[in-house]
Amino acid sequence: MIIQNSYEENNLGKLYIVPTPIGNLDDMTFRAVEVLKKVDLIAAEDTRHTKKLLNHFAIHNELISYHEHNRFERIPLLLEKLRNGEQIALVSDAGMPAISDPGSELVTEAIKEELPVIVLPGANAALSALVGSGLPTEQFYFYGFLPRKKGDKEKILTQLKYLEATLIFYESPHRVSQTLQDIEKQFGERKVVVARELTKMYEQYIRGSTREVIDFIKNYPLRGECVIVIEGSTENNLQDDVWWEELSLEEHVQYYEEKQTVSHKEALKLVAKDRQISRRDVYNALHVKKND
Ligand code: SAM
Repeated sequence: MIIQNSYEENNLGKLYIVPTPIGNLDDMTFRAVEVLKKVDLIAAEDTRHTKKLLNHFAIHNELISYHEHNRFERIPLLLEKLRNGEQIALVSDAGMPAISDPGSELVTEAIKEELPVIVLPGANAALSALVGSGLPTEQFYFYGFLPRKKGDKEKILTQLKYLEATLIFYESPHRVSQTLQDIEKQFGERKVVVARELTKMYEQYIRGSTREVIDFIKNYPLRGECVIVIEGSTENNLQDDVWWEELSLEEHVQYYEEKQTVSHKEALKLVAKDRQISRRDVYNALHVKKND
């Protein structure tokens, strides 16, 4: 167990996770500017990109790159600096670091070493799109970018098909139409919202059924950055459908464990119920298979 008292005075440096605007510079918070000014070092996904933001806010501070391709070399260096008492801020190109952006591994490793991690609230495309979509917000499932390979994408959509939570995806504008067609094929008719260019001059929400939105995009091709928000599964979608049919027993158990975050024991119970077999049979089938 690790307890973090974020503002406790000690000799350790703090790792600040600092969100930056997703389009509108006015969304930079006072606190984000203050933290970026006071830290010893700013780790940035793209130093040239961040330099422009820093110039805009008259922040003259040292930058170091931290991105997808150098993160594993950078982590030990940044952790060492934190252990030596340096204050470090992490920023990505836009929005909240670690959300479909580099950052989560650094946070995990800092926590392992009991170094304080302080997250500043701020701009994030997924949450803005969800709230603006008008779809239920009580439960939501953020997937991020779907895989590009057809088979992998289909597999994920099959797994998500029965979630009752509102679904959120990031997608590049030229793939939105294809992704909506894949969603239509797997999920049938659902309410769909494409939130485009959030916080920018041409911000737009396209709200309709899957088919309506696909047809709209055919006539008005999308440009700019997009978030796709999809209504969750309703009771009607579930009726009489043997959704797990194409899953192996292992995948079926894994589905409950990973996607519904239930315990292994509970997953065995649910799988047994779906397949109308005993829990012992499920257990034995997995156990025997593992010992093969
Ligand atoms: N970390 C970011 C965040 O907190 O939202 C997300 C970074 S991810 C690499 C970039 C994706 O986020 C884009 O492809 C798009 O799907 C979404 N996105 C970012 N800015 C957006 C905006 N202004 N409007 C709509 N979607 C946006």
